[in-house]
Amino acid sequence: MLELKKLDKTYKLKKKKVHAVKSVDLTFKRGEFVSILGLSGSGKTTLVSLIGGLEEPSGGQLLIDGIDTCTFKQKDWTDYRKNTIGFVFQDFNLITHLTAIDNVKIALSLSGYSEVKKNTEAMALLEKVGMAEYAQHFPAELSGGQQQRIAIARALANSPEIILADEPTGALDPDTSVQIMTLLQDLAKQDHLVIMVTHNKYLAQDYSSRIVKIDKGVIISDENIKEAYNKEFPPVVMKKSSLQFTSALKVAFNNLKIRRKSSIFALMSLIPSMILVILLGNFIVNLLGYEKDISPIYNRIINDETVQYLSPMSDHDFEWDVKNMITNIQKKRINEESVKALEQKLFTPYDDETLKNIESLDFVEAVFPPNYYDVTIEDEHFILVGLLPEAYQAYQYDFNFDYYPKDDEEGLIFSSDAANVLLGKYNDNPMALEGQSITFNMTSYNSIPFHYETQASNKNQFTTEVIKVFDPESKTTLMSNYYKGYIYASSGYINTLKNQFDLEDISLILYELVDVLDPRAAGSKYLPIGGKNLTDLLLPLRTKNLLQEDMALFSIRKFAAEVPSSNFMMRYQIITKGPLTETQKEILTAYGTLYPSQFDEFAIYSAKETGKFIDKILLYAKITIGVIIALPSILVALILYISIILRTKEIGVLKSIGAKAKDIITIFTCESGMLAITSGIVALMLSFPALNYAKEILEKQYHLTYYLGSNPLDTNVPAILGSMISIVLIITFLGLLPGRKASKLHPRVLLRNIN
Ligand code: ADP
Ligand code: MG
Repeated sequence: MLELKKLDKTYKLKKKKVHAVKSVDLTFKRGEFVSILGLSGSGKTTLVSLIGGLEEPSGGQLLIDGIDTCTFKQKDWTDYRKNTIGFVFQDFNLITHLTAIDNVKIALSLSGYSEVKKNTEAMALLEKVGMAEYAQHFPAELSGGQQQRIAIARALANSPEIILADEPTGALDPDTSVQIMTLLQDLAKQDHLVIMVTHNKYLAQDYSSRIVKIDKGVIISDENIKEAYNKEFPPVVMKKSSLQFTSALKVAFNNLKIRRKSSIFALMSLIPSMILVILLGNFIVNLLGYEKDISPIYNRIINDETVQYLSPMSDHDFEWDVKNMITNIQKKRINEESVKALEQKLFTPYDDETLKNIESLDFVEAVFPPNYYDVTIEDEHFILVGLLPEAYQAYQYDFNFDYYPKDDEEGLIFSSDAANVLLGKYNDNPMALEGQSITFNMTSYNSIPFHYETQASNKNQFTTEVIKVFDPESKTTLMSNYYKGYIYASSGYINTLKNQFDLEDISLILYELVDVLDPRAAGSKYLPIGGKNLTDLLLPLRTKNLLQEDMALFSIRKFAAEVPSSNFMMRYQIITKGPLTETQKEILTAYGTLYPSQFDEFAIYSAKETGKFIDKILLYAKITIGVIIALPSILVALILYISIILRTKEIGVLKSIGAKAKDIITIFTCESGMLAITSGIVALMLSFPALNYAKEILEKQYHLTYYLGSNPLDTNVPAILGSMISIVLIITFLGLLPGRKASKLHPRVLLRNIN
C-alpha cells in the first residue's frame, strides 16, 4: 500500500548539498510494525517526514495505494496528512493549554464532527490508550508515558492507516517505553501500518515485525523478524474538510486565556485607544458636516464672479439724502412735498423698460429684483425671502436645502428656528409645522396705510401651507445667522401673493413698525438711520411742540417706518454669463451703482476663516486618529507575532494533523478579532459618557456651540458605530499578518525541534 521507489532527498545548506536520503526502495503493508534503526544524522527523520508528507522528495516516487504522490497538490497533501497519517513525536508535542481530551478533539475538529460526536470519539480513543480517566488533565499534570499515550490517541483520530512515530520512547524510562511499545504493537495488530524510528535495537527486536537499518541515507538492511499482522483491508476513503469555525474560536479563546497577561495587556491598551478613535471619529464626521455647510458659501460666492448687484441708488447717495432729511427736520425745514420728493427718489426701483434693457444685454443671463418681505405673526417678525428659480440656485450664497421648491410651488419653507418661534407655545417639535396651514400678516411698502394697528388688517392676511421645515441645527453659526428667522418661498409664489394683494413690485422691506411718536416706543426696537434713529430725533421735536401736526407729520412717520437702515434691499441681482470685463462693468454702471456679490463681507470672511480652521482641525484629527489606530494595532500584531514563536509547536502539530494554512490564519484572525470585539464593545459603552465629558470640557473652554452652532462632539451614533466597527475590523485584519506568517511555517520546523 505504501511504496518508496528510488526516493531521494537532498537539502541545500549554504551552497553545500546534504544528501539525507539516497535512492530508497521500500514497500510497506498494513499490519506491519516497522522499526527504522540508524545512528543520529543517518536520515531517519527525513525518511519519516517524506512518508508523512511533511517533506517533498527531491527525486524518486512515493506511491500510496498505487497513486503517485507527485500528482498531489497542496490540498491533497493536507488531506493525506489528516486522513492517512498519524504522527507520534519524541516529546509528545501536546498543546499545553488544552486538556487531554481537548488535545484529541482538536485533531477531530478537522473532520467536521459535531461536538457530541467529537466527545464520544475522543473518549473512545483515550480509552483505547488507557487514558480515559485522565481526560480532564492538562499535559503538565501527566507523566511522560501518559502524555505519549495521549499523543498516540491524538494520532489515531481520523483513523489513519499509517502511524509514524519518531523516537516515541526517546524521552521515556524503560518501563514506560515497554508500555508504549505494546500499545504501538497493538495498533499494528489492529490493521495500522506502524513505522517507528528508534535508536533502541532491543526494543525494535522485541516488538516490531520488521527492522530497516539506514546509514548515511542508504538502506543497509531490511529484514522481517516476525509475521506481519495484515489482513485484507478496504481501500481508504479520503474525507475532506477543514477546521470548524467553532473549533477555531475555541482554540483562539484558549490561547488568549492561557496567555492571560498579554491578553489583558492588549485589552487594556486597546480600550482607551478605541475610545479615543470613537471620539475622534465622532468629531471628524461632525466636522465634515460643518465643512459641507460652509462649502456653498465658500465655493459659490467667494469664487463666484458671475453674480453682481445693481442698485438704482448708491449707498452714499442714500445716506446723504437721509442725513439731509434729518437735518431738515431738525431745522423745521420740512413739508409734505419735500418728504414726497425724497420718498420718490429713495424708493424708485427700476421700471419694466429699464429692467428689460438690462436683461437684454448680451453678457447678462438674468436679472432678479430684490425679493425680501416683512412677515409678522402675532408680534413676531420674520423675513420672507423669495428664492431664485432653481436654475439659479447655485448663485445663491446661503442656501443648501435638501429640498428646493419648484419655481412656482405654493407654500412656505421654514427654518426650524422660525418654526420654533411660531410653535413655541404649543409644541416643541418644529417639524410638526410641516404640512400645516398658517395665517400671516404681510406688511409692505405700498399695501398698508401707515398705522401701527394696521398690522392686523385683513387686507394683509394670507393663509398658506408649510411645505417644509428644515433644520439649521447642525449648521454653523454662520449659516444659522442667515437661516434664523427666515422663511422662504419660490419666486413664483411670491408673484402670486403680490398679485393677490395688489402689491407693487416692492423692493424694500418694512422694518419695525413703530409709531414714532409713541413715547412707549422709545427704547424699543426702532429704526436706526445713519447711526442715529429717527424716533429719537422726532420725539423731542414733538414734546417741544416744535413740529406741527400739519407739517407732513404723517409723511414723516410713514417715511420713518419705511426707510431701511441701508439700501442693499434695493439691489437687483444680476447674473452674468461670465466674469465682467471693464467695458461690461461700465455699461452696467450707466444704470446705477454696481456692487460685488458680497452679501456680507464678514460672513464671507468668517466662512473663509472657519473653513480654514476646520480644514486645519480636520487634518490634525486625521493624523491623530491615524496614530491612535496605528499604535494599538501594532501592539496587537506584535503580541500575535510573539505568540507565533511561543506556539511554533502548536502550529506544527496542527499542520501535522492536517490543518491547512487557511485554518491557521483563521485561528490567528479569531484571536485578534476576539481582542478587537471585546475591547470594541467595552470602548463603545464607555465612549458615550466619555463623549459627554469631553464635550463639556470643550464647551466650557471654547464655547463651540456658540461659534459653530453645535458641538463637534455631539453624539453622532452612526459616526460612533462606524468608527468602532472600522477599528475592530482593522485590528482583526491585522491578525492576518502574523496568521499568514504562522501558516507558512513548515511542519518540518516542528519535527526538527525534536532532534
Ligand atoms: P536522523 O533523524 O537520523 O538523526 P535526519 O533525517 O534528521 O537524521 O538528518 C539527516 C541529514 O540531513 C543530517 O545530516 C541533517 O543534518 C540533514 N538535514 C536534515 N534536515 C535538514 C534541513 N532542513 N536542511 C539541511 N540539512 C538537513
Ligand atoms: Mg531524527
